[in-house]
Amino acid sequence: MKAIQVSSPGADFEIVKKEIPEPGINEVLIKVEVCGICHGDAIAKEGHFPGIKYPIIPGHEVVGIVDKVGASVSVWKAGQRVGVGWHGGHCNQCSACRKGDFGACEKSLTTGIHLDGGYAEYMIARPDVIVCIPDELASVDAAPLLCAGRTTFGALKNSGARGGDLVAIHGLGGLGHLAVQYAVKLGFKTVVLSRGKAKEELAYKLGAHVYIDTDTGEAAKQLMKLGGARVILCTAPNGKAISDLIPGLGRNGQAIIVTGAREPMQIPPMLLLGGERSVRGFVTGNMEDAIRFSVLTKIIPMVEVFYLEQVALAYDKMMSAKVHFRSVLKIA
Ligand SMILES: [Zn+2]
Ligand SMILES: [Zn+2]
Repeated sequence: MKAIQVSSPGADFEIVKKEIPEPGINEVLIKVEVCGICHGDAIAKEGHFPGIKYPIIPGHEVVGIVDKVGASVSVWKAGQRVGVGWHGGHCNQCSACRKGDFGACEKSLTTGIHLDGGYAEYMIARPDVIVCIPDELASVDAAPLLCAGRTTFGALKNSGARGGDLVAIHGLGGLGHLAVQYAVKLGFKTVVLSRGKAKEELAYKLGAHVYIDTDTGEAAKQLMKLGGARVILCTAPNGKAISDLIPGLGRNGQAIIVTGAREPMQIPPMLLLGGERSVRGFVTGNMEDAIRFSVLTKIIPMVEVFYLEQVALAYDKMMSAKVHFRSVLKIA
């Protein structure tokens, strides 16, 4: 099979020929159709996590067809169209797993980081992390829902915000353009916070009710004029920009971080104390929930499709935020 691998932290992508892996007794072999390119792929590419074993095949927004299953796999059958996301496996034994919180497993495995992912013609997955892709969704549209979709939808759905509440989406890129659509369909008064005027038209096209240009430096004030945000979903990787928005949270408002910004945030504790505001991260979210809601409300991601050979270009466009708005690699 053809596969795209990274041989060491920071190395270029290499397109190599490999043996098609054989599924073990409790494993599924998937013939990959497409794989989304996510900012999280930089963890494998650049070696941001300790203990990654190289060479590694990245990719955790995988859609393909079940090719073969191990003897003890009962749910999945050859020919089914399925997806695999970030969560690649859990131990079923640690204290988090014993409480059913598999996402918090102490030995959790991430697709494309600890296990070979979907930048290849075939991949192995565990049966308990696979989801079914419904017929209504094209594979290229389904792939980004498996990470970008389930994270933004999960964060909003579990935020405690209710219909009519003021919810602001910070950033209108790969995560943000999905988050805006989810916020609107969940019934929130949806504000888009983005730099300049370039994305204003798109924000309204996606259904946003208010657009605020953060370059004015008045975004938090404008949110307070609207009553204060119940939620600010932070999708733009910029610690300073996030800090500046916190005064725009209303009473009990929460800033939810779904982006891997590395620079620290500076927030006066007094601001959180008064009004009982909070800042939290969110990385879980259920893929099936996101897929079901997306099909029900006809939300599809805006994608740029690249061929396997164009992986370096696709990755660079994603990393420099020049892609509109998620990159998807066509593998098959
Ligand atoms: Zn991801
Ligand atoms: Zn566990």
